[in-house]
Amino acid sequence: MDMTFGRFLLVLILLAAGFAFAVWRGFVQVPDRWNPWAPLDLREPPNLLTGFKLRLLEGDRALCEQALATSDLDYQAVPDSQPEPTCPLENTVRIRGSEVRFNSAFLATCPLAAAYVLFERHGLQPAAQAVFGQPVARVEHFGSFACRNIARSNRRSQHATANALDLAGFRLADGTRITVARDWRGEGDKARFLREVHKAACRAFNITLGPEYNAAHHDHFHVDMGGFRTCR
Ligand SMILES: [Zn+2]
Repeated sequence: MDMTFGRFLLVLILLAAGFAFAVWRGFVQVPDRWNPWAPLDLREPPNLLTGFKLRLLEGDRALCEQALATSDLDYQAVPDSQPEPTCPLENTVRIRGSEVRFNSAFLATCPLAAAYVLFERHGLQPAAQAVFGQPVARVEHFGSFACRNIARSNRRSQHATANALDLAGFRLADGTRITVARDWRGEGDKARFLREVHKAACRAFNITLGPEYNAAHHDHFHVDMGGFRTCR
């Protein structure tokens, strides 16, 4: 790296730091969705800062409440507990409904709950409108919390801390049912819709694993908020 470029980079870094400081102190007003210190508003479409803001929710119940209050999520806070020694439940909520109904209520860490809202509002429903001209009325899942390891491994699954959800199917407002098991492979609208939903899941959650990943996922999309971003 030559001197001129080095100096240019330094100036750039100083400018960025100065701007960040000005935003933080409130000297400069930016819209909340572009302010890393503003609470996450789930009505706004996800952007570059969303992943960061979801991560901030991890250990902060108050911030979590603030974020979830920007949605129609029907949920209940769950006190921290340790149902089993290796499976602590921290900053967790029980989701009973949203703009859709569920086949059953489920536990979710706060970041998973918030990412789910983003997925449903900015991914799932637009995909249903685009392909079928109507919304999804019901989401079918295989569950979230299970104190277990990843299948055939000795690593703890994200399900062990309610940080993962298995999405299996969708029912449209007119009653049409679409399942990953039956409709993933195919050419029609249902397959096209599921591909859009898979893409939307990849945008909202840290990890999305579908039927192309392995046989264990032939009938659902596994989504979770652990580890590195993965979209398979
Ligand atoms: Zn799973």
